[in-house]
Amino acid sequence: MSQGLITEFIEDMHNQSTSDPTEDEYMNNYGDSHISLIGYPRIEYEKDREEIIKYNDCKCCNRHQKNKVNIDTFNKTIYVDYESTNNEVKDCECDCRHNTRFIAYDYTDVYKYLCNNIDDSLKKSDSCVNMDYDDWLERCVDFKSQFKPLYCSKNAVHTFNKEKLLFTMYKKEVYYNRSISGSVMNYLYYTSYLVRYQVEDVEYIYSLELCDDEINLDYWHECNVYRVDVRDDDPETMVTNLIRLN
Ligand SMILES: [Zn+2]
Ligand SMILES: [Zn+2]
Repeated sequence: MSQGLITEFIEDMHNQSTSDPTEDEYMNNYGDSHISLIGYPRIEYEKDREEIIKYNDCKCCNRHQKNKVNIDTFNKTIYVDYESTNNEVKDCECDCRHNTRFIAYDYTDVYKYLCNNIDDSLKKSDSCVNMDYDDWLERCVDFKSQFKPLYCSKNAVHTFNKEKLLFTMYKKEVYYNRSISGSVMNYLYYTSYLVRYQVEDVEYIYSLELCDDEINLDYWHECNVYRVDVRDDDPETMVTNLIRLN
């Protein structure tokens, strides 16, 4: 599926699931979401990959070429911080190496976060299903009709396999919980990832769906309802679907 086809596909799906675009916040562009989730993983693999390549093109000085995160290791190995050596001459102010490390560090954090979520739900019985990879791939970009697609890419799944990435995000959807009068009370964000999960040198591939429940503060303030959890507006994350694919 080419990028153009994916865009077309998303637009089609979006039109189907939105009967009246003026009724809801129109959020068909993932990047345009007006809601910023606190502590939410910032994952835009293609964009970050381009950044890594760009910073690797910089040949400012010898020191900054050493231990720079390159595209061969980015999101394929866990980033380890290198100890700085103090006897080097630091006369170059370029931030190319620092920036690659910053992005790689972010990805390591997200990867650990996803593995912890898998770990936790595996401890609970019956929380995981197994599925044949091909069957799953057929359905992985489908949307449930009550969700509004924000982002979806089969291409991300192919890149995950081809490049042997540690993880990738391939789908994001939003669901509005409404009051009887139709006002949005809370938003449920469903985000799907593919994750390589290691258990004693054996590698498993999981599709992990996480749901973030974020309340609409405007609604609760208009109602003059000050629930305890209204004040605490950090989204609550839970695992809503876990599928083992190998
Ligand atoms: Zn330099
Ligand atoms: Zn540089």
